[in-house]
Amino acid sequence: MSDDPRKPSTKEEGWNLKAGYLQLPTKLFSKVRPGPVKDPKIVIYNKELENSLGIKIQDLDKRESASIFSGNELPKGAQPIAQAYAGHQFGHFTVLGDGRAIILGEQITPRGERYDIQLKGAGPTPYSRRGDGRAALGPMLREYMISEAMYALGIPSTRALAVVSTGERILREKRLPGAVLTRVAASHIRVGTFEYIRQFGNVEELKALADYTIQRHFPHILKESNQDSIEDQEQAGLQINTKYVKFFDEVVDRQASLIAKWQLVGFIHGVMNTDNMAISGETIDYGPCAFMNTYDPETVFSSIDRGGRYAYKNQPGIGQWNLARFGESLLPLIHKDPSQGVKIIEKHLQKFATQYHEYWLEGMGKKLGIFQIAAKDEELMDQLLQIMKEEKSDFTNTFVALSYGKEKELSINENQEFVNWHNKWQKRLKEQKESKEEVEKLMRGSNPLVIPRNHQVEKAIHAAVDNSDYREVRKLIEVLQNPYRESEENEAYQKPPGPSEKPYVTYCGT
Ligand code: AMP
Ligand code: MG
Repeated sequence: MSDDPRKPSTKEEGWNLKAGYLQLPTKLFSKVRPGPVKDPKIVIYNKELENSLGIKIQDLDKRESASIFSGNELPKGAQPIAQAYAGHQFGHFTVLGDGRAIILGEQITPRGERYDIQLKGAGPTPYSRRGDGRAALGPMLREYMISEAMYALGIPSTRALAVVSTGERILREKRLPGAVLTRVAASHIRVGTFEYIRQFGNVEELKALADYTIQRHFPHILKESNQDSIEDQEQAGLQINTKYVKFFDEVVDRQASLIAKWQLVGFIHGVMNTDNMAISGETIDYGPCAFMNTYDPETVFSSIDRGGRYAYKNQPGIGQWNLARFGESLLPLIHKDPSQGVKIIEKHLQKFATQYHEYWLEGMGKKLGIFQIAAKDEELMDQLLQIMKEEKSDFTNTFVALSYGKEKELSINENQEFVNWHNKWQKRLKEQKESKEEVEKLMRGSNPLVIPRNHQVEKAIHAAVDNSDYREVRKLIEVLQNPYRESEENEAYQKPPGPSEKPYVTYCGT
């Protein structure tokens, strides 16, 4: 290791960092170096993710590895930046930006994919406002566990490569151990990034961001709509720029699919502000998120969400609201005449509700072993959910019991309405050509046995933060890697919280 802790590492560690974002208008980012920390130690590391990124850290216990994932030392090729963005927070427009996150660069993997490598909690940036730029160990462990669990569930998500404890204490409600999380994302471009450039940039700058994003996430659009055809349309007097309309459609579709997936596992994001909605369609920013135990559409975990704006049942609607903000930001690119642009965006935004509904029906169908959705299936689904709500059933475990023929273990089984529903459901399954075994396979692959339940996540975090005991965190990470695999060993992780355990509330003091 060099004597200067800020000097780039010369070691061959498989880094292949590019800085494509730096070609964008400079008002979209600030060059900033991570602030140094006192005594970095890697406490959790994701070998599997390291492999797929093509990084090869030789010795994790070495100080130099911790140096990189704390920001003390820069990996080869790093050109660190903090991104500028805005966002609607609880419905109100605010100027934000990475106040405590620094992107080291875009790692090109051996398979040619591009991922942002970001250090969260890496020190102050020009966007920190009154914040200290730092993160506490507990919430970073939480983001690691939950984002990796989401990935294993098959839900698009940013991922977590490492958590490094900094050896420093940071001030929140009380002094807490600090940490840096290495987050890996398809990109960190948000709805809020577009809102920012629309507010503070000109049309060329907005176009530069849109073109960059299309190239990065939806390159097929470029093949479909080349510039000539757009000019043709302009000459024909249509003046619609189909490239950007398609871009909007794609983002709408990915969000519809993503939010349907959240609903189907009972995930509540908790703070669906437009700055926390990634254009890539990945789940991003695990702050006050949590998984629902008892099925109740009104569920809210976040202490700051007093009005229930981001309650479970509101997530699809909020998704559409956020996409309306995205569409507004794109308006100057859609049509020369703004009123025409609004009409086009409104029309295409309508697709969200239909697409979300289709994704949800298809997903719920799989959870119930239905291969081809028929018109009457939705009623069947709604009836079950209604009974589950009345019975205060555990969301995950009800579907597990249906998948494994363990209905007798459920208290809901004593409810006559449920028994009637069950008969109807069985009859419906028999109408299909697929065998009982095929139905079982579909259901078992669609209903996770383990989800990151709050009481277990919190217990693991407490042991780590209070006693530096990482055994439970590691165990939980391991269990959550195979959420659909039946295992006796994992049974303890399937249990909902006991009646003595307090209702879960998440706090934003992250
Ligand atoms: P979030 O609620 O996590 O999406 O964050 C909202 C905004 O607050 C983002 O711009 C963050 O970068 C910023 N922020 C959160 N915590 C801190 C902190 N400790 N220091 C500086 N900025 C922060
Ligand atoms: Mg955020």
